[in-house]
Amino acid sequence: MKKNIVGIAANQHYQNNQDFFDQQFTYSPQGFIDGVHRAGGVPVLFPISDPELASNYISSIDKLLLAGGQDVTPFLYNEEPHPKLGPTSIERDIFEMALIKEAIKQHKPIFTVCRGTQLLNVTLGGTLYQDLSQYSDWKVKHDMFPTVPDFGLHSITIKTESALAPLFGESAQVNSHHHQAIKDLAESLVPIAWAHDDIVEAVESREKNTKILGVQWHPELTCKKDPKEQSLFDYFVQDFE
Ligand code: MN
Repeated sequence: MKKNIVGIAANQHYQNNQDFFDQQFTYSPQGFIDGVHRAGGVPVLFPISDPELASNYISSIDKLLLAGGQDVTPFLYNEEPHPKLGPTSIERDIFEMALIKEAIKQHKPIFTVCRGTQLLNVTLGGTLYQDLSQYSDWKVKHDMFPTVPDFGLHSITIKTESALAPLFGESAQVNSHHHQAIKDLAESLVPIAWAHDDIVEAVESREKNTKILGVQWHPELTCKKDPKEQSLFDYFVQDFE
């Protein structure tokens, strides 16, 4: 059986530790690697790079996965930084935006998680709440830190006609580790899951030929013990074409 190669856009860690000579590290959370391995895929990491290399990277894979991490740089959606904006990485934003555009161009399926979903929305023309305090109907705790986000804390309602419904049913519990959220959804995306305060928790592409699935929670932290969360990786790696 053909094994799909999944490119995972990596992050950079600035290790302030003399044991490692204060070097920078390229990394991805282990849950993404394990989730793709269990699904029968071959994960490869893409270091933050010159956006001009995006076509080379995307040509080398079958599917693209965008992970969580920093807040999205607000000027990318024409906003000034809100006082509650967290750490950002413009290099990572611009490289991952180029990966998204190139994956769509090359018809490679995309799966995005948390920040990845937010960046996807911005890349396609949408906007974000820089902090949930900007959202007047905010009612649900979406950042469970410092509780370890390895179990479902808040519930979501899922659109029946969606890629998510066969995997998760009409409603489910998901973990939550975000203080930013989708504000205006990009025109080419459709919301397919919501928290009880109507924050968008999952999206897919409006266009049938473009395969995009984005979630606001972190399946990489729960997929080891939750078969439903692993089924997201299985679906993306094996069936999402
Ligand atoms: Mn949430």
